[in-house]
Order: sequence, then structure tokens, then C-alpha cells
Amino acid sequence: MNNTGPKTNAQQASEEPIIRISEMHKWYGEFHVLKNISLDVMPKERIVVCGPSGSGKSTMIRCINRLEEHQRGKIIVDGIELTNNLKNIEKIREEVGMVFQHFNLFPHLTILENLSLGPVWVRKVPKKEAEETAMYYLEKVHIAEQAHKYPGQLSGGQQQRVAVARSLCMKPRVMLFDEPTSALDPEMVKEVLDVMISLAQEGMTMIVVTHEMGFAKSVAHRVLFMDAGQIVEQNAPDEFFSNPQNERTQLFLSQIL
Ligand code: ADP
Ligand code: MG
Repeated sequence: MNNTGPKTNAQQASEEPIIRISEMHKWYGEFHVLKNISLDVMPKERIVVCGPSGSGKSTMIRCINRLEEHQRGKIIVDGIELTNNLKNIEKIREEVGMVFQHFNLFPHLTILENLSLGPVWVRKVPKKEAEETAMYYLEKVHIAEQAHKYPGQLSGGQQQRVAVARSLCMKPRVMLFDEPTSALDPEMVKEVLDVMISLAQEGMTMIVVTHEMGFAKSVAHRVLFMDAGQIVEQNAPDEFFSNPQNERTQLFLSQIL
């Protein structure tokens, strides 16, 4: 991975984090779901987030593209602070792509229509240009020949690759993935991970919630472990897996590895 290795000090000094979360809290009603989350993500950095079910992983990444609101602390994405000021939202959704566990494709639209819808309606891109871009990204995820089919005619792995391509059509600067392979049959996991690995090789900034620890080891710069609404531990993958410090991390890893 040429341009994706550890950064030199000079590079680091000249770069600002693309995502900056500081002392962020969120409640669902009375329930304190995220507690004092602080996280800086550098351009081209790849972060894997793991942790038990219900620990707040989805909520945290949904706050980053404002699918959820936080109540305390700050989230700044590419210089834009996420506040109640609604006019920021479209811009944030363009900059931050998201891929969900369930692919969330529109079933009554073809694959090509699913991909061109956002650019045409949100970015006001001419339809022909949006379709050309869509075909470009469908080629990238090796699925161009399915462009005129409907989602229901594709396998789960193919649909998820379409979902990745759909996000890329908006030319995001950051991609968030929320357990992108956990709803897939085992034989389809690799085709989706391979697409994510090639995105990583191209230098995409990525935050990936996943329990695919092989992916974490080979692709992540940093692995975060969440428990009960907090980031309990974070480290480079080698250290994280070989020498987990927190006993909750140790317990979690002993259960999944
Ligand atoms: P994870 O992705 O780590 O499994 P989530 O972020 O989905 O965790 O959920 C964290 C906690 O917040 C869980 O206890 C969950 O039940 C709760 N939760 C998630 N979404 C909502 C919601 N919309 N309203 C109330 N509670 C929620
Ligand atoms: Mg989740």
C-alpha cells in the first residue's frame, strides 16, 4: 500500500484531522449512550471500531454524519462543526459516505438509478454525467454488468458492493462502514472486504465498525474498542491484538478470536 503507510512527522505536522470529536456525549432520552468520546481522525487514516453489541458503535459513527445528534461536546468534520444549524447537513452527507449492515438500496429502482439518484437530486449533476460516474464506480466494485437489474435480483454481497459504489458516487472524503459484512453469507464476505481493501489502497479515510479481525489487522492504522458508551482502549492493530490492556478488551477478544 504505497501512499497509505505510516506518516512521516513532516506530513503529520502539516495535516489537520479531517474528523475531530471532543468530549462528546449523547443521550437517548434518559439513557446516556455515548460518554465523553474524543477522537481525531487524520486524512487517509483507517480506523476499525469493535466492541460488544449495544456499546454505542453505531451511534458514534451515525453522529459523524449527523444521522444522530449529540448533546454535549464537539464534532467537527472537515472544518464544519455539526450543530443544530441545519444548513450544514447536506454538505456533511456529501462529505461523509456511509455503508450500513443492511444495504438500504431502493428496491423499485435499478442499480444504475440507485447510484445516480443522490448526485442528480442532491448535487444537481446532469443525469448523463451521474450515470457515467455510476458506471465508473460499478466497474470499480466489479458489478457493471448488473447495472440494469433491480437489487432483489442480486446476491447480498453484490448488493453491498452496489451500496459502496453508491456512496462513492457522492465523492465523499470519508467513508463510514457499520458492520458491512455481518448480514452476509460467509462466502460473500470476502468480495465486500476486497472492495474495502482497494478503497483503503487508494487512500480513502475510513472508519469501519467490524468484527472482521483479519481486516482490522491488515488494513487499520488504529483499532478502537468501545464498551458501555466509551472508547475504552485504542492502539495500533499489532499491539491491540497481541497485548490488550483493558480487561474488557481482553474478554471481548477472547470471545471472538
Ligand atoms: P452497537 O452498534 O455497539 O451495537 P448502538 O449504538 O446500536 O450499539 O446502541 C447503543 C445503545 O443505545 C444500545 O443500548 C441500544 O439499545 C441503544 N439505542 C440505539 N438506538 C437507540 C434509539 N434510537 N433509541 C433509544 N436507544 C437506542
Ligand atoms: Mg451497531
